[in-house]
Amino acid sequence: MSRFWSPVVGTLSPYVPGEQPKLQNLIKLNTNEHPYGPSPKVLDAIRAACDDTLKLYPDPSSDRLRQAIATTVGVTPAQVFVGNGSDEVLAHVFLALLKHDRPLRFPDITYSFYPVYCGLYGVQYETVPLTDDFRINVDDYLPGASGPAGAIIFPNPNAPTGRALSLADVERIVAGNPDAVVVVDEAYVDFGGESAVGLVARCDNVLVVQTLSKSRSLAGLRVGFAVGSAELIDGLERVKNSFNSYPIDRLASAGAVAALEDTEYFEKTRQAVIATRSRMTAGLESLGFEVLPSTANFVFARHPAKDAAELAAALRERSIIVRHFRHARIDQFLRITVGTDEQIDLLLKGLAEVLGQ
Ligand SMILES: *Cc1c(COP(=O)(O)O)cnc(C)c1O
Repeated sequence: MSRFWSPVVGTLSPYVPGEQPKLQNLIKLNTNEHPYGPSPKVLDAIRAACDDTLKLYPDPSSDRLRQAIATTVGVTPAQVFVGNGSDEVLAHVFLALLKHDRPLRFPDITYSFYPVYCGLYGVQYETVPLTDDFRINVDDYLPGASGPAGAIIFPNPNAPTGRALSLADVERIVAGNPDAVVVVDEAYVDFGGESAVGLVARCDNVLVVQTLSKSRSLAGLRVGFAVGSAELIDGLERVKNSFNSYPIDRLASAGAVAALEDTEYFEKTRQAVIATRSRMTAGLESLGFEVLPSTANFVFARHPAKDAAELAAALRERSIIVRHFRHARIDQFLRITVGTDEQIDLLLKGLAEVLGQ
């Protein structure tokens, strides 16, 4: 606490991102980055954009990028909002769309940034426990169960569990709450989930958030977007234009457009991650791990005989870093990003050593 801070600053509990180590040669399986780099066409596009035009501000409405996103997901540009990573998009969403008299509702185990935004913007919220097997129970999100929510947000697939809801289940939540905004955070949807983008044409209360950080290998470029009715997008634009007129810089725009256009590279690399995820799951299971079924580029697993924090520490000694959350219900789990096949072989070998197998 400092006497110079605005009073709210002392009340915040900021998000703690996964470690970005300065050491080289670590096997980094802790923050769900893509194991393969971005498409070579992305790098070419960024290089081509590196010229004298950097002296000029970028397009404040990111028309080219919004058009490329609209084409990719099958909506109109007026239904697309872009931001500097989906975390920034989400920040605007919390202020623009989720702050109401009745509390926002989200799962007890979910993306830990949600309560942080609530703290920053003074959004009241209530959490709903996942089932014992870490699934979202759709009925808990229908007004009948616990009265209507002010708004709803959940990731699909959920993080850090990796478990997905079917599109039919997401639609039940959206259709069952016609007077509340339902935000579906689809950071991991390209690794096997079903997107709710198709609901946007029929439902004016659904907002789908996606990112280029995970499935497009561009965590370092910081580009995310939201898709929803023009009414929801307008609300987001009003907040964005009261905060930062130019969130997408010229290089990010060039790289993001090229990434969206290179569908062949996208397909190839996401299928590689999905294939490695199956191998990795089988390998972990043969070491005795319980692995939740994952539709993401990570798995969430626990070992019945070995403490998760100790396992994480033992892996670290072998230069492999994974994510461990000291939160109720999940403190015996490790969240492990799907790496390359070579990295996963080393992970399994390291775990076998630690477990004495
Ligand atoms: C990674 C992640 C994000 C944020 O991604 P950006 O890099 O900010 O685009 C948002 N939601 C969930 C659930 C995530 O896992």
